[in-house]
Amino acid sequence: MAEFSLTRTTHPTSPAVRQAALADPGFGRHYVDHMVVIDYVEGDGWQDPRILPMSDWSLHPAAAVLHYGQEIFEGLKAYRRDDDSIWLFRPDRNAARFVNSARRLGMAELPEDVFVEAVERIVALERDWVPAGENEQSLYIRPFMIASEALLGVREAKSYRFSVICTPVGPYYSEPVKLWITPNYTRAAIGGTGEAKCGGNYAASLVATEEAYANGCGQVLWTDGAEHKWVEECGTMNVMFVTADGELLTPSLGSILPGVTRDSILKLADAHGLKAVERPISVDEVLDGVESGQITEVFACGTAAVVTPIVGFNSPQRGVAVVGDGQPGPKTEEIRRHLVDIQFGRAEDTFGWTRKVC
Ligand SMILES: *Cc1c(COP(=O)(O)O)cnc(C)c1O
Repeated sequence: MAEFSLTRTTHPTSPAVRQAALADPGFGRHYVDHMVVIDYVEGDGWQDPRILPMSDWSLHPAAAVLHYGQEIFEGLKAYRRDDDSIWLFRPDRNAARFVNSARRLGMAELPEDVFVEAVERIVALERDWVPAGENEQSLYIRPFMIASEALLGVREAKSYRFSVICTPVGPYYSEPVKLWITPNYTRAAIGGTGEAKCGGNYAASLVATEEAYANGCGQVLWTDGAEHKWVEECGTMNVMFVTADGELLTPSLGSILPGVTRDSILKLADAHGLKAVERPISVDEVLDGVESGQITEVFACGTAAVVTPIVGFNSPQRGVAVVGDGQPGPKTEEIRRHLVDIQFGRAEDTFGWTRKVC
């Protein structure tokens, strides 16, 4: 593949406007001035890697993504440290997962080194858009890929577009939430796309989130598609349980999204006096454990919010159940702090997870 080319915007955001945006970035409210675009054509491969001014795209109305949903994405962040250097957290894991998602959706596979290079280039170019790390602000990076071939017949498309866009994000202190154990919807079935980070999974989840709101909860606890018996994950995050006998329990991989945050927290468990255990966990085990005090803390984890305390459950069968005293637990807060401190370079990175961009 050729070298990346750069076409600079003729209308860069002024420092004053950018500073105002960074003062209160929200999530996805402001976008950086440029984006990465790389196209793929079957037979010719990946071509013309380029950084362009952020702009609308034109797409044939028959583009396969618009009809059959071949779309995958990733999410990671760039962190500004106290010495003003900019770092990524385990971008190699996102690159590898992106390949797996592409494979599952029958899409072209972007080489992992190209993925990481694309992310590093856009972050380095837009480094002024990475907020100061105070209050845990960061630059959220969204790599994604769509099937761009004009195609109404149903088959794997032959042309794709990969892109990376970025948005500064605020301190994402996530409010503690209760989870709705939906009897009506599932996120993933055996043989389905649960392990892939694809837009279709999200499209199918939105109606269940509305159901959760209507039942006084902030998110859905997804259970398995066959029996609604086994816990899978929560909203768009993985779920973890702290037990009275010192385990950090989480559902095994299979039909859940293999989160980078999940994997990192499992590896940090030891440092917090917890034994990481991955195994099937039933809804009854969770609700019984919450009732008896065997489960002392519950939290969800993912890149965007890092860790979200789960303080209760609601379900048609068993009604409302409160975790502990209904407040975020101490291990939840400790683990969250540890992970964020590694990301911002304030705690030792014993696993070699962080990667300097510039
Ligand atoms: C992205 C995602 C996660 C979290 O993955 P991270 O790599 O930790 O950000 C969990 N569940 C779903 C469904 C996701 O899409």
